[in-house]
Amino acid sequence: MKTKSLMTASCLLGASVLAAAAALAPASAQNPPPPDHPAVTVGGQTYTPRNILSRNMGTLEDQQTAFAPHKIIGNIYYVGTRTLSSFLIVTPQGNILIDSTFERNVPVIAKSVADLGFRFADTKILLGNHAHGDHQEGDALVKQMTGAQVVAMQEDLPALQAMKPGGKEHPVDRVIRDGDTVTLGGMTLTAHLTAGHTRGCTTWTMPIQEGGRNYNVVFFCSLRSPGTIAPAVADEMNRTFRTVRTIPCDVPLGDHPAQYRMQAKHARLAAGGANPFVDPANCFLEADIQEAMFRAVLVEQQQAAPR
Ligand SMILES: [Zn+2]
Repeated sequence: MKTKSLMTASCLLGASVLAAAAALAPASAQNPPPPDHPAVTVGGQTYTPRNILSRNMGTLEDQQTAFAPHKIIGNIYYVGTRTLSSFLIVTPQGNILIDSTFERNVPVIAKSVADLGFRFADTKILLGNHAHGDHQEGDALVKQMTGAQVVAMQEDLPALQAMKPGGKEHPVDRVIRDGDTVTLGGMTLTAHLTAGHTRGCTTWTMPIQEGGRNYNVVFFCSLRSPGTIAPAVADEMNRTFRTVRTIPCDVPLGDHPAQYRMQAKHARLAAGGANPFVDPANCFLEADIQEAMFRAVLVEQQQAAPR
């Protein structure tokens, strides 16, 4: 009996490791996982390409289990999973959703929206962080379920069009460029092209009022550099690291919640007091981590290059 249950446990473990590896593949386009070097230390923490990816993605269970849906600030809510962000902006004219994540997560997101007392069917606009499966694979299903207008950054179009879960075409209703805005029910978001991680990686910004004060909310795009950095991508990333630091920011958010320490901040909500998501001091911490890694990868790459 004991042997049997042990065997079952190890089979399950094996299966879940395989499933996790399979789930990572479309998300990171890196299979096998990235290396454990170079290492950089920022804010007393040491990072490698491998531990950054694992911090972002967690386990397969983390990727598909809802994190307690909660209000972040004003009319902005978290409706994603433990490791894949999805944000809901509620307006009197319907709602805006940022990131559908994996297609299998769309019902999880829809339930989180309902748990907050809102209607998923009221989703009028769907925005995306960047054209990787862990953020935008579910767009076609969201469109099917809500009829939302799907907005896409021009430079990410080819990658989005290649994303066809179950053979479904990736919907695109409006193509935007750097600096374009999206408005619904009195709320306006501005799209900033912050390319490098993908060609059309988009950082969304939005001013918000709460308690008589104004805050700048920033939905940062991923700043994680690829394992091998082509010259064109290096140029994009150099430009992006400069651009992000010019963006006014009081409330930093990201496409993976670990980028803005969501779990720790959420835990502080229960204590009351100041809103923990207002965190201007750490607005560019993730940029610092990713820029240090980007420069270290470049150095490693130059050292390995034939002379
Ligand atoms: Zn990505």
